[in-house]
Amino acid sequence: MNRTFRIAVICSIIAFVLAGCGVVGGKDTNEDKLQVVTTYSIIYDIVKNIGGDRVDIHSLAPVGSNPHEYDPLPADVGKTTDADVVFYNGLNLEAGNSWFDKLLETAGKSGEGAPVFRLSEGVEVKYLTTEGKEGEADPHAWLDIRNGIKYASNAKNALIQLDPEHADIYEQNASAYIEKLEKLHTDALNKFNEISEDKRFLVTSEGAFKYFSAAYQFQAGYIWEINAENQGSPEQISQVIDLIRDKDVSVLFLETSIDPRSMEMVSAETKVPIGGKVFTDSIGKPGEDGDSYLKMMEWNIKTIYEQLQKNS
Ligand SMILES: [Zn+2]
Repeated sequence: MNRTFRIAVICSIIAFVLAGCGVVGGKDTNEDKLQVVTTYSIIYDIVKNIGGDRVDIHSLAPVGSNPHEYDPLPADVGKTTDADVVFYNGLNLEAGNSWFDKLLETAGKSGEGAPVFRLSEGVEVKYLTTEGKEGEADPHAWLDIRNGIKYASNAKNALIQLDPEHADIYEQNASAYIEKLEKLHTDALNKFNEISEDKRFLVTSEGAFKYFSAAYQFQAGYIWEINAENQGSPEQISQVIDLIRDKDVSVLFLETSIDPRSMEMVSAETKVPIGGKVFTDSIGKPGEDGDSYLKMMEWNIKTIYEQLQKNS
């Protein structure tokens, strides 16, 4: 659907609704707002915090799903074609089967100068270590809140570039949001400092905690290093079991967006308990735990802190 036709359709729907209900509103109508597409829920939420009422956002990989691999639906292609701007993580996140590159191409947004922004721009990249994948970027930069702040600031700059008329709104939203993120980062440092460094060990299914571990001085173990590779093979399971025994790990964690069965097997085998779920590649469902980037990070910090305290 092209933009003019879409606006015409929206206008007639609005006219119909207004006529039917006698509603007269001074609010922004849809066609005033920037039409935004994001690749997954974490970026959706960060951009929403900066764009506020000025943006109308469609997120591709739905809440609770795995953005490493996604099959865009026809509606996603339409939204991406019509979007004023597209935000993605980069660092190999949206790389499984090249789904995002293919989508941009289909939507006519793959060329130089297309309004497509990588929110991880400026992050200090960490790399995978699995044999055959060395040198590939690890995408999970947002699990270090300082990087989340970079994402927010990049989103702000892009929105100002596209909609300079409302720069003051984006500036205000960004500084209020970044202040909250900075406070949470400081709280995390204070909390984790109460736990001795040798006890700060995080074992999850996917090795998503490289950036987090560097930020908060943790060691991290995993069954597989990144989603979209062989997940939970007998060799991977036995390696993590050896690590858990060797390092005397006291508690294990599940991720909300990953099948729990491999980690349950590891827990049964080692008799090390699962301490709860953490959010990695998705925020929580609306109205449930962790339903924003800020809340998912709060949840992770609290869960990891409490479980390490209890079990060490
Ligand atoms: Zn992941």
